[in-house]
Amino acid sequence: AQHYNVPGWGAGYFSVSDKGHLVVHPHGQPGPTIDIMDVVEDIRERNLGFPCVVRFQDVLRARVKAINEAFGKGLVEQGYGGKYFGVYPVKVNQMREVVEEILDAGAPYHYGLEAGSKGELLIVLGHNTDPEALTVCNGYKDEEFLRLALLGRKLGRKVIVVIEKLSELPHLLRLGDEMGVEPLIGLRSKLTTRGTGKWEGSSGDFAKFGLTVPELIHAVRILKEQKKEHCARLLHFHVGSQLTDIRVVKDAINEGARVYAKLRKMGLPIEYFDVGGGLGVDYVGSHGGNGNGNNAAPGVTIASTVNYTLEEYVGDVVYNLQRVCQNEQVPEPHIVSESGRAVTAHHSCVVMNVFGHIEIGSQEQITAASVADPNESKVVREMREIVTGLTPRNKAEAYHDAVAKKEEALQMFKLGLLGLEERAMVESLFWKLCRDLVALNRGKKRLPRDTRDLGDKIADQYMANFSLFQSAPDHWAFDQLFPIVPLHRMDEPPTRDCTIVDITCDSDGKIDRFIEGEGVDETLSLHALEPGQPYYLGLMLTGAYQDVMGDMHNLFGRVNEIHVFVDDEDPEDFYIEEVIPGDRIEQVLSRMQYGPGDLARRVKNALDQKVKDGAIRPKEGVQLADFFEQVMRGYTYLAGV
Ligand code: PLP
Repeated sequence: AQHYNVPGWGAGYFSVSDKGHLVVHPHGQPGPTIDIMDVVEDIRERNLGFPCVVRFQDVLRARVKAINEAFGKGLVEQGYGGKYFGVYPVKVNQMREVVEEILDAGAPYHYGLEAGSKGELLIVLGHNTDPEALTVCNGYKDEEFLRLALLGRKLGRKVIVVIEKLSELPHLLRLGDEMGVEPLIGLRSKLTTRGTGKWEGSSGDFAKFGLTVPELIHAVRILKEQKKEHCARLLHFHVGSQLTDIRVVKDAINEGARVYAKLRKMGLPIEYFDVGGGLGVDYVGSHGGNGNGNNAAPGVTIASTVNYTLEEYVGDVVYNLQRVCQNEQVPEPHIVSESGRAVTAHHSCVVMNVFGHIEIGSQEQITAASVADPNESKVVREMREIVTGLTPRNKAEAYHDAVAKKEEALQMFKLGLLGLEERAMVESLFWKLCRDLVALNRGKKRLPRDTRDLGDKIADQYMANFSLFQSAPDHWAFDQLFPIVPLHRMDEPPTRDCTIVDITCDSDGKIDRFIEGEGVDETLSLHALEPGQPYYLGLMLTGAYQDVMGDMHNLFGRVNEIHVFVDDEDPEDFYIEEVIPGDRIEQVLSRMQYGPGDLARRVKNALDQKVKDGAIRPKEGVQLADFFEQVMRGYTYLAGV
């Protein structure tokens, strides 16, 4: 179990049971536990099919509570003058059940929502009904978007329109006059502090959103000219998602706090200081280590790990803001944060079944090739001699000779001088040499250069029933790491080095960077597949962005989904509150403008013709047409494998 670093990334919500199963502690530890294999059993009994997203709604609630209470505690500890009002950015996961659960868990803290588009604002206006909670509107806005926000003001809600570009400001003021309601205005500042990695472009002068300092000054002028400075209530900035280095957080707060102080002194009664998102998730569980057991060098950060805790983040936000406010002698504003990833990542995972593996140079092939044939050609014999002559001292030489011999055999084959079976012998002997080399290299520090990553090259490919593009698009797009663990058998030592391939017809549909121990590796240690026995993997921490950004590559559609709750009567038990079936094939076909009825008719007509021609018996024709329609009504992923 130590291979999978569950305590590292599990953040107290996951651990390995004595049975070697992955278990969830939805309220943290100690507390009730759910054995994920019991959930798998339930999915099987319901004939739902894999892959399946499993949401632990209690984990979502626990995250909302943890963030709000961390801020609550941080404010008290530092004797801070303002309050905390968090908002959840719905773009991170817009599912109704997710948003409802977050609002319900956040109600005691007046936790609000953030919207970045008209669609999201419709959701937020429908659901965020607490007049004390904030609604923050980010993103570029057209007239409809602005009118929707003002509609929210008419309902008595605290809807704040964040000005992302200057032209939105006069537009909003005009519409406010027209609709007879005063807007609440936020100003987004482009800070020079930059995040690192993938999202560093979210800040700096050339960022897509926000106002530069001259534009902020211009905004103040517009507000004053129109006698609307009292509407300016919030200062916003966002330096990027998944901030991996706490120093960036400190810098951003310091810079943002100075901007706040100066705007206050210019007469804007700003009462909310919105630090945006960015609170990171330690997907690797190495606490900022770079995967080689070292701490990440200054400025070099690994996007999948972070070097701070929630408490440290909160402490730094509160402390740095307070320090600047005291120094500048301005009131301490209420603190707003827009954490999405840190709220949602832990609560959901994708459960998938492994249905086979591709082994390069399988044991059977190697065994067959190991028996010498007295009549075999010279090239086969010479390859055999290279393999049998391998010693710890001639590793590099043997490998180079074998590569050359394999190439020679290929050339001979192309010229018709070598048969298919003999070519197979040469290749199998080559793979044997590779396996022997990997065994000789194991545990050694100084390895011949060309043989260093042989182990990764000859790793097994485990075929898992999922689409990377649907379920973990960020891994495909920019190597974001997600923990992958077997959901069972963790009490047995894993014996196979593997990579994972998905079922799309795309060679990019693979995972070959994994969390191993506290580091990162090109292969993952998994258990040998046992004939007839299912093997289940969990793709963990997928609750942020992945659930809603996935695409339909190869027409693999949305995944089945279940929502699991702890049973309050029996803390060792759980119940499934909701089952949301994934896309059926006919649904994804319709989205591509195919009429499922039309396709069925076309195939039925073709079958009828064959029946007429006497090529197919009528009964078989009917059965085949029924079968076609049955597939169309089925799940888009592999069934019965
Ligand atoms: N707020 C804004 C303006 C954002 O652009 C984002 C995402 O990038 C977030 C909040 C959420 O950030 P995170 O998921 O890192 O908390």
